[in-house]
Amino acid sequence: MRILAATSELHPYSKTGGLADMVAGLSNSLAEQGHEVRIVTPLYKCVRESVANLKPFDWKMQLPLGAQTIEAKVWTIHPRDNLTIYFIDQPDFFNRDGLYQTEQGGFPDNPDRFIFFSKAVTHLARYLDWRPDILHLHDWQSALIPLLVRHQSTNEGWENPPATCLTIHNLAYQGVCDKSHFENTNLPWDHFTPDGVEFFGSINFLKAGIVYSDWVSTVSRKYASEILTPEFGCGLEAILTKRISTLSGILNGVDYGEWNTTNNPFIPFQYSAGNLDGKSKNKMALQRSLGLKVDSNVPFFGTISRLAEQKGLHLLIKTLRELDLNQMQFVLLGTGDVSLANQFNNLAKEFPQNVAIHIGYDRQLAHLIEAGTDFFVMPSLYEPCGLNQLYSLRYGSIPIVRATGGLDDTIQDIDSSGAPGTGLKFLNPLASELTETMRRALRLYPTSNFKRCQLMGMKQDYSWNLSAKSYANLFTNLCMQNLR
Ligand code: ADP
Repeated sequence: MRILAATSELHPYSKTGGLADMVAGLSNSLAEQGHEVRIVTPLYKCVRESVANLKPFDWKMQLPLGAQTIEAKVWTIHPRDNLTIYFIDQPDFFNRDGLYQTEQGGFPDNPDRFIFFSKAVTHLARYLDWRPDILHLHDWQSALIPLLVRHQSTNEGWENPPATCLTIHNLAYQGVCDKSHFENTNLPWDHFTPDGVEFFGSINFLKAGIVYSDWVSTVSRKYASEILTPEFGCGLEAILTKRISTLSGILNGVDYGEWNTTNNPFIPFQYSAGNLDGKSKNKMALQRSLGLKVDSNVPFFGTISRLAEQKGLHLLIKTLRELDLNQMQFVLLGTGDVSLANQFNNLAKEFPQNVAIHIGYDRQLAHLIEAGTDFFVMPSLYEPCGLNQLYSLRYGSIPIVRATGGLDDTIQDIDSSGAPGTGLKFLNPLASELTETMRRALRLYPTSNFKRCQLMGMKQDYSWNLSAKSYANLFTNLCMQNLR
C-alpha cells in the first residue's frame, strides 16, 4: 500500500512532543512491513540548519493563498527502504526559531502557515507520479486536507483521490482562529457552516478534519470513547459522536531501539529483567547526580512531564505535602508552567536530601530517571496515549497512573490483595486518591510482590509492530471502500 502522511513535526528532524515520535515510529514500522511510506513535513529552520543530506527535489509549487500566489520548493531525504520524506521549503512561513511559537506566544499567522502546508500536501498527493492510496493526517495542522481533497475531487476533476484518515493526538489543540483566515483556503464559503468548518463563528481546523475525513482515529481505545463525552470532548463531543461508526483508537507504540535498558548510552549501568543489579546502581548514580541522599533502599518516585494542567501535577504537589518525604525520594524533570515549577522548587528547598527538581528539557536525564526510580507518577487529568508509562514499564519503574485514556489501556492495577499487575491506578482526579495510591506504593515497596510486578511490567511488549499492523488493516479497509 502507498501511504502519504502529513505531519507538522517529525522525529528526529523537528519535535515539540509525542506526535513527532509517533509519526516516525509508525512510518518506520509500516515501511519495514513492506508498505511504501512517504511523509510531508515543513522545512523548519532547525531542519535546514541541522540535516546535512537533504536533496533538492525537482518540484516548484506555486499555490494560491487568498489573493496571493506563494511559491515553495521541496527537499527530500530517503532514510531507509520504503520511506521518503518531503520537506516543504517556504522560508517566510517556516524558516523561524520555534515550530509554532516563541516565548511571547503562538505565531499569529499559524492558520495561514498550516493552510499553506495543507495545500502543499494536497498538491503533492495529486500531482506526484507516485499516487498514494491513503492520506494519513495528524492533528489540526493537517486537518484541512480532507476538505481540500474533497473539494478538488468534486469541483476540479481530481479522479480517484486517496482515502483520508485523520489521527487526533490531543483533542485540546484544535486550531481555532478568526474566520478572516478562511479567504486563504480559497474554498467556497459553503463549507463555513456549523456542519463544516465553522465553530461558533470561528474556523476550527480539527473539526474540519473530523467532518470531512473518511476515518478518524485517536491514539488509544479508551481515549476514543472518552472524547465522546462532555468531560473529554473539548466541545467537539457531538460532532465526534456523529462519526462513531468511523472512529477508532489505536495505541501508539514504543521505539525500543531508543527506550531500553540494554545498549543504552544514556544510562551508566545496563540491566534487564534477568538481572536487575544495574537498576539499583543506576538508582544510586541518579541520587548522586541530583545531590540526594544515596540509599538504594529508599522508595524513589519520579515524574518527567510538560508542566501543564493536563498532567495533573497540582494533585501531585498536594500529595507530596501529605506524605512523609523523609521516608521517600522524589525527582521531577519538566518545563512549562512557572507557578507549578516554583511550587515543586519550594519542596526541593525544604527537603534537599529527598526531593530534586530539574526544570528544563534533558533527554539523558529522562533515561536515567526511568532507570533509577522505583515508581513513575502520571496523575494526568486526561492522557490520549502517554509514552512515559510505557517507557517506565520497560525500565522497571512501576507506573502510578490515573485510569484515563492510554494510561488505563496499558496499565493493569496491582491489587491491594497482592494479585500481580503492572502498575497502580486511581480513578478520580483527586489529590486524596493519588495520596492513597502512593501510600499503596509505599506499602508494596518492601514486599516480594514489588519485584514480581516490576518484572511483569518489564516483559510487556508495546513495540510498533502490532499497532502498525492495526493501521495497515484500517488503511486497507478504507482503500477498499474508496474504490467502491
Ligand atoms: P506529551 O506528548 O503529552 O507531552 P507523552 O508522555 O506522550 O506526553 O510524551 C512525552 C515525551 O516527552 C516523552 O518522550 C518524555 O520522556 C519527553 N519529555 C517530556 N518532558 C521532558 C523533559 N523535560 N525532558 C526530557 N524529556 C521530556
